[in-house]
Amino acid sequence: MIPRHQIVLLSTALLFGMAPVRGHSLHDDGMTSLAEYRRPSERTLLHVPDIDGYQTLKADLHMHTVFSDGLVWPTIRVQEAWQEGLDVIAITDHIEYQPHLEDIPFNPNRPYEIAGEMAAEKDILLIKGSEITRYTPPGHFNAIFVKDASEFVKVRERKNPELDKEAIDRAAAQDAFITWNHPGWKVGSIEGSYDWIPFVEEIHKEGKLHGIEVINDLDLHRKALDWALEHDLAVLGTSDIHNIIANRYDMEHGVHRSMTLLFVEERSLQGVREALEAGRSVAWSTRHLAGREKWVRALYEASVAVGGIYHHDEKGIAYAEIRNNSDLSFDLALADSGLKGWPETITLNPRSSQTLEFRSRSGTARYVVKNAYISGSEHLVVEISPEKN
Ligand SMILES: [Zn+2]
Ligand SMILES: [Zn+2]
Repeated sequence: MIPRHQIVLLSTALLFGMAPVRGHSLHDDGMTSLAEYRRPSERTLLHVPDIDGYQTLKADLHMHTVFSDGLVWPTIRVQEAWQEGLDVIAITDHIEYQPHLEDIPFNPNRPYEIAGEMAAEKDILLIKGSEITRYTPPGHFNAIFVKDASEFVKVRERKNPELDKEAIDRAAAQDAFITWNHPGWKVGSIEGSYDWIPFVEEIHKEGKLHGIEVINDLDLHRKALDWALEHDLAVLGTSDIHNIIANRYDMEHGVHRSMTLLFVEERSLQGVREALEAGRSVAWSTRHLAGREKWVRALYEASVAVGGIYHHDEKGIAYAEIRNNSDLSFDLALADSGLKGWPETITLNPRSSQTLEFRSRSGTARYVVKNAYISGSEHLVVEISPEKN
């Protein structure tokens, strides 16, 4: 009779196809898998609340690949976007700037084609786009929702200002959604580069300018936010990524790429376009938000909850909980300078809660949200008024 523990050992050995012998003798094909070291196929979930009955999508509508001056193959852009929790991307390689031309043939429709299958598998909405790359000023414009990017080939002469208008006209003829990219990029180095110049006025008047980048990469273009409000343009935040995302952004410390939050009626390409045309967007870069007050406020209100007063101490200090339920951050500074007994600053980190201690007699306090821009020079102002339980 075989002891019970040996039966277990025997059956385990048989299960793994090994001879039930003592010692460590492996009769296999000479290979040992180390698959446990593979990075898990895992998507970060960025939690940004839906607002006003719209679904909030995370979009990056400006990025590059080896098909212009980027360093990666188009499918890498899809992988990164999926890992980082994005819903929508547009690959927008330069039309008139092709430094890899000796290695990669010019084919402006190819990045979209190459990325398409993986985008479908990963449920990433992929928009076809191009970056119209004129000399500054007027600079660069993205055309997204284009039909055939090779139609732009004939205007590749970047420094010929006579072709600037034709480049925009060709995109408009394809019913593209056209945005002015990084308007402040050359501020200080090219005179008039960060101005609402007659060229921009002209294309805007003709209905050929629909959006503007307020955040591009690691720059907040505050004046561009004023133009967005004044000229009814969609506010965009984009990465304009050329390298891999992880080499550009300090991701180990909670940073993520600059992106656009879009408030859509439905999660589809049509839904994205409709939201852009209606101006339902906010630019987001880790701790910073920039956009129309209505949408920035809605994001704050859907994220931050102030609980009731649960304790009063003998000195007249009241205690309540203030909670941030989203991955957005809000850096609050007391707006009412004369108001005593409230904290001068409140830093609401992503998905966190803290105790609010204040003089309950004053009831309500107003705070400036220092990292939420509602114009080039103004921040969102919010009221905090914990109610008694
Ligand atoms: Zn550009
Ligand atoms: Zn670019």
